[in-house]
Amino acid sequence: MNKLTVLKIKFDFDGKKNVIYPVILSDKNEVVLIDCGYPNFLPLIKAASEVNGIDISKLTKIIITHHDFDHMGALAEFKRLYPNIKVLASADEEKYISGKKKSLRLQQAERIYDRLSEEDRKGAKRFQNFIASIENAEVDECLKDKDFFPWCGGIEIVATPGHMPGHISVYVKENKTLISGDALVIENSKLAIANPQYTLDIDTAKKSIEKLLDYEIDRIICYHGGIYIKDDIKQALKSIKR
Ligand SMILES: [Zn+2]
Repeated sequence: MNKLTVLKIKFDFDGKKNVIYPVILSDKNEVVLIDCGYPNFLPLIKAASEVNGIDISKLTKIIITHHDFDHMGALAEFKRLYPNIKVLASADEEKYISGKKKSLRLQQAERIYDRLSEEDRKGAKRFQNFIASIENAEVDECLKDKDFFPWCGGIEIVATPGHMPGHISVYVKENKTLISGDALVIENSKLAIANPQYTLDIDTAKKSIEKLLDYEIDRIICYHGGIYIKDDIKQALKSIKR
């Protein structure tokens, strides 16, 4: 039986309360986690999965939407504990996830550093050190736009660059659900493009949203914000400002 489970992971980060929503797709052969949280999040994801009747040791695949620390932070831990898990990501993100290239988020942080006040530099340095400490992991299979897999009700990879160049979303055909990663977030109950501060190319991000109009979508699951359901998702997508 195909199942789509939205995990709700609550935690404190930098003294603030936060929530992320990774997704697990499963059928009789596959258990696929989409994005895996911050460093050391394996126990949190395990606990949230158990609440939903899912045994994390049965994971067959992890899809990473992009190489930000809150999406791939725990990837190396998962691979260490469950070496049979296959990791899938776009070819553009693979080089950063595996560490062949320096994280774009780190490059961005380094670029803005000189412009910061003395006061802000301390926190900024801490952030840089944190990103640099994210463990890399090998990607087993590279994905591209329109790749289709028969698992879990049929899933299609949708390239949604902008937030990061190789960012992907996952469309689950059977229940017309889009798992958006950071291509879309929910802010004040509305769909939005993730904070421009973190979206590396805002124009490309907007084009990616336009592209989603080609899909029949009943529900969007945002990593930051959770489940978005509306009668007219197309209209909601069209009215995204930013
Ligand atoms: Zn991100």
